[in-house]
Amino acid sequence: MTYDIIVLGAGPAGLSAALGARGRGKSVLVIGNRWQDSPLAKAELVDNYLGMPGVTGAQMLERFTEQAVQAGADFVTGRAVSLMAYEGFMVTVGSDFYQSSALILAPGVTRAAKYPGEETYLGRGVSYCATCDGMLYRNRDIVVVGRGHEAPHEANYLQSIGCKVTYVANARPDVLNAEIPFVKGARLEVKGEQTVTALSVDGQDIPCAGIFILRDAVAPTDLLPQLETEKGAIRVDRAMATNVEGVFAAGDCTGVPLQIAKAVGEGHIAALSACEYLDKLN
Ligand SMILES: Cc1cc2nc3c(=O)[nH]c(=O)nc-3n(C[C@H](O)[C@H](O)[C@H](O)COP(=O)(O)OP(=O)(O)OC[C@H]3O[C@@H](n4cnc5c(N)ncnc54)[C@H](O)[C@@H]3O)c2cc1C
Repeated sequence: MTYDIIVLGAGPAGLSAALGARGRGKSVLVIGNRWQDSPLAKAELVDNYLGMPGVTGAQMLERFTEQAVQAGADFVTGRAVSLMAYEGFMVTVGSDFYQSSALILAPGVTRAAKYPGEETYLGRGVSYCATCDGMLYRNRDIVVVGRGHEAPHEANYLQSIGCKVTYVANARPDVLNAEIPFVKGARLEVKGEQTVTALSVDGQDIPCAGIFILRDAVAPTDLLPQLETEKGAIRVDRAMATNVEGVFAAGDCTGVPLQIAKAVGEGHIAALSACEYLDKLN
């Protein structure tokens, strides 16, 4: 299905954006993890949000989510792993694709640091998307670096299409197919020449043609490399528009202060701007 707006991220900024866009009658799909898995769900007390003193982060997220659902936003649980900007936007989640005419980025901040070599070999053997790139590595040795909930399932999928998978993580997940070799390791480095040749794990090389690094969050600039940033945050104007036409951003991803009130306000502005953009398009 094609939506007017896809919102990437189901934290306060994304949920506020979804509510705002539904208020203007636009169809909205929110892509994000379960609210229980959002960073804010860990907050024992939130005391600085107007009108809701003394709530936990979990209570707040549950109420925000309920309100966005009641307003008619659709939800998909999962991680957006690839994004194509061409005559609108196409976002991949697992093995499914979703399309929209405008996009609001609200993925929070990506806390995971990149491994040495990851950036250099992105698109030359390093991938974040099993569905998009798996077929390129049929009958070839690949490594899956499991840093997210869905990683073992995606490793099983890659094996099912004929990739020769080795799984690297801190512990072997229960759901990983028994035939997939597991290597425990923390200090990782991507090695290569023109393309990837190996993953070094605690000093030992695992030769491979591809490395799938599967985290719960993917930095927006990895999804959309043409996005301009400033001091690590997505650059936006006062309408929360980015430098990419039809793409708006809100919340922690646009920089400090990293606070709920700012995220909610920016989400609302991004929604109104996206609606105005769509109205002009039509
Ligand atoms: C423990 C804790 C306590 C806090 N306490 C307070 C407080 O008391 N007051 C206050 O104002 N602020 C507090 N904060 C900060 C506040 O939580 C953030 O400023 C706010 O949540 C930012 O909202 P956001 O929607 O921009 O990002 P987030 O809340 O981070 O939500 C973004 C969501 O998008 C998801 N996501 C990222 N990439 C993808 C992808 N590729 N596909 C799908 N989903 C993706 C993320 O997993 C995340 O769930 C606290 C934060 C923490 C961690």
